[in-house]
Amino acid sequence: MGPHPDIPVTVVGAGPYGLAIAAHLRARKVPLRVFGEPMDSWSTRMPAGMFLKSTPRASSIADPGAHCRLQDFRAEEGRPSGEDQHPVPIEEFIRYGRWFQERCVPEVEREKVERISYHRDAFRITLASGEAFGSRRVVLATGLGPYPYLPPVLDPLLADGRASHPADHADLAVFTGRRVAVVGAGQSALESAALLYEAGALPILVARTRKLLFGEPPPTDSPTDRPLPVRMVKPASPLGPGWSLVAFAHAPHVYRYLPEETRARLLRTVLGPSGAWWLRERVDGRFPQLTGRSLHRSVADGEGPVRLELRGGQARPEVLEADHVLSATGYRVDVDRLRLLDPELRRALTCTGTAPLLSAEFESSVPGLYFAGLSAAATFGPVLRFVCGSGFAARRISGAVVASGRR
Ligand SMILES: Cc1cc2nc3c(=O)[nH]c(=O)nc-3n(C[C@H](O)[C@H](O)[C@H](O)COP(=O)(O)OP(=O)(O)OC[C@H]3O[C@@H](n4cnc5c(N)ncnc54)[C@H](O)[C@@H]3O)c2cc1C
Repeated sequence: MGPHPDIPVTVVGAGPYGLAIAAHLRARKVPLRVFGEPMDSWSTRMPAGMFLKSTPRASSIADPGAHCRLQDFRAEEGRPSGEDQHPVPIEEFIRYGRWFQERCVPEVEREKVERISYHRDAFRITLASGEAFGSRRVVLATGLGPYPYLPPVLDPLLADGRASHPADHADLAVFTGRRVAVVGAGQSALESAALLYEAGALPILVARTRKLLFGEPPPTDSPTDRPLPVRMVKPASPLGPGWSLVAFAHAPHVYRYLPEETRARLLRTVLGPSGAWWLRERVDGRFPQLTGRSLHRSVADGEGPVRLELRGGQARPEVLEADHVLSATGYRVDVDRLRLLDPELRRALTCTGTAPLLSAEFESSVPGLYFAGLSAAATFGPVLRFVCGSGFAARRISGAVVASGRR
């Protein structure tokens, strides 16, 4: 079929961002199609047994009526709504996301979008099933999937599958009894190492930082129960306590006006590598921690152990032997990795660094093509890396779509 603009909006992605945006578009009566596997990243690319680092109050997917928050889900299941002192288990969050989808976006089609191209004034969407249709606007909420980052020093280990990213594993118990070098000092590295240890594997943490950092346990379950002076000095925010985090959480529209270099630096440094407060006792003293070391070389020798050459303060490099390397080295947005976008469409995107540069309404330099979630963090700041940014994105995008329909 030809590229007729027969669907006003197509949302690609059924994670927290795709669902929130679709729910807002539905509420505004915008006809749409939504594609993706609901909560797929959480069930297939994060480890079973994980807990969310974000607090329950910062882990609700945005719905326009605020009737489908995590606390509403818990109330329906007849469970009390714990707050800051009660981290959310991933299994609960997946059930919550699917409950949200059934209520707020029942029309999600569990199909993969294979290709998106642009012809004259409409997008052409091709599905894995072979179906193709036209769409006036496309919202890409495909999440972290294309962006896992492994440092090039691990390249020699990749061919034999001797190094991987946490996104490759939904169950770390596959490593039981094996020595796993876990690289990194952030939540993912620390929690992966803890889960490996608890599953009977032998993790060894390798981190560039000299000292592992953990958050402070919250003094009360609810921020409103804290004394006024405490709240004045360190006000609560969905990203954590402190005035700067309040600004990043509540003023993403202002972040966009910062100079490009400042935005890039803040994205790298705000909420730098650290573990949640409740991880400390599962990490400290449990398994070896080689801090102040960086990876210099990696070698895989047939069936034998992997050898990692580490550089730290010592004159000679240390050699660490392991059966596998789990590189919890984060995600890097790069539009070139968005293979579902036609190469011509990718080339037409104006970027900030390697991420798409977006308008105040999340629209890219290709009119009608919107980006949400991690891809939008280079424009709007760190809140877009978390579920708590889904309301801002959903309100802006749905508002822009309705306004552009009137023009
Ligand atoms: C280990 C880990 C822990 C985290 N912990 C937290 C936390 O505690 N709190 C928090 O707020 N955030 C956390 N995050 C970040 C979290 O991933 C994001 O906040 C959230 O998942 C972003 O939602 P999203 O909808 O943008 O993307 P995702 O949840 O990644 O969803 C992507 C969706 O796109 C769909 N999709 C992808 N490609 C296609 C295609 N070609 N066709 C059709 N559909 C497609 C997928 O099926 C899926 O439905 C964590 C991330 C990681 C990796």
